[in-house]
Amino acid sequence: LARNPGEAEFHQAVDEVFESLGPVVARHPGILESAVLERICEPERQIIFRVPWTDDQGRVHINRGFRVEFNSALGPYKGGLRFHPSVYLGIVKFLGFEQIFKNALTGMPIGGGKGGSDFDPSGRSDAEVMRFCQSFMTELYRHIGEYTDVPAGDIGVGGREIGYLFGQYKRITNRYESGVLTGKGLSWGGSLVRPEATGFGTVMFAQEMLRTRGQSFDGQTVLVSGSGNVAIHAIGRAQKLGATVVTASDSSGYVVDPDGIELDLLREVKEVERGRISEYAERRGGRARFIAKGSVWEVPGTVALPCATQNELDGSHAKKLLDHGVIAVAEGANMPTTAEATRLFQDAGVLFGPGKAANAGGVATSALEMQQNASRDSWTFEYTEERLARIMTSIHDDCAATAEEYGMPGNYVAGANITGLMKVAEAMMAQGLI
Ligand code: NDP
Repeated sequence: LARNPGEAEFHQAVDEVFESLGPVVARHPGILESAVLERICEPERQIIFRVPWTDDQGRVHINRGFRVEFNSALGPYKGGLRFHPSVYLGIVKFLGFEQIFKNALTGMPIGGGKGGSDFDPSGRSDAEVMRFCQSFMTELYRHIGEYTDVPAGDIGVGGREIGYLFGQYKRITNRYESGVLTGKGLSWGGSLVRPEATGFGTVMFAQEMLRTRGQSFDGQTVLVSGSGNVAIHAIGRAQKLGATVVTASDSSGYVVDPDGIELDLLREVKEVERGRISEYAERRGGRARFIAKGSVWEVPGTVALPCATQNELDGSHAKKLLDHGVIAVAEGANMPTTAEATRLFQDAGVLFGPGKAANAGGVATSALEMQQNASRDSWTFEYTEERLARIMTSIHDDCAATAEEYGMPGNYVAGANITGLMKVAEAMMAQGLI
């Protein structure tokens, strides 16, 4: 705490991991002797920089840019960039810290990092977003590279932003280095399935959890929060498996659509027009309603997929969901469930898939994009999706087996933390005091 004052989200993420580690340290004393736990909490490098840019009226704005290169024991730093006004060092460090374990869980050769800016892209023109991205990359380019650090998207950073960032990287370095960023467009080095991967993967993970109890998505009433990249593809996948998804949200409120979210309309409003979620309810008509206050977690449902942002599902929401008979929760977003809510779900025997495991499909497919870039190849949708499905099943099985091995059967939080830590710790100890 004294070393990292005022970084509440980072403390929360570290606490959550450390709570699981008692039995690991008892069994592997080398972890304590080599100070792996102290080292893993200290980023290898953190970069904070000024991002000046001009708006369409010629006014000058100054934002702050971040890249936290947390851990490279398993491979080049890998993790997204977030553009949102709430971004500060504590958020970037929590995300970067979680990314270390998540990336280890995928079994791919990638380390952990994260970055972003307090820039708010909402309401900005394409030209403004482009100028911001170009200015951001004008500093970031010197810190990243195919073998060093490979950023991707996150909240506020999608295909448009990755395009502008890649263009500026190429222009400054005079290198067509496809593997420097992931989430690229298909015609210039992107991978099929990458846009869908996080949402699809979250549902695949939840499906594996449900299977352990002889259940599936078929016939479930599913609550999804958010209406961005992760939420949209989680909704699509859950619907394909026979579920009725009855909610979606954004920062202005949420919609309840008892007949099931009409995905094409949601995508038109949110992805094409970059509009507000209320417009979905207005155009959908029928029984769909927009509600400005409260949260999706007040709506009855059997499976909850939080896909918006950190700490969006707290203890009072968890109690509501339990009253309504929720049987499974899988985190599409990073740390959307507070510690109290997580405990309530676990105590009640609800299947709970933590983000580190449940949303790892995005970064895993980013690593598949890197593989395609390195071999100058591009794979079919079916092949890439099958690789993603295999990775998600194996993450699920590894977490379940580890939880069992350490005497906490069904505890996917402990399973994910311990599996991830052991992979990174072994590599760190083998590589000496780094
Ligand atoms: P997007 O920017 O595409 O969408 C984010 C969604 O969440 C939007 O609907 C947004 O609403 C809503 N949201 C964001 N902040 C808030 C807030 N403070 N309060 C209420 N709603 C909010 O981001 P993604 O879908 O990519 O990311 C969503 C989550 O998934 C994040 O936690 C991210 O870290 C995580 N994640 C993403 C991965 C990816 O591949 N993209 C990979 C793994 C995890 P509005 O439009 O009003 O801002």
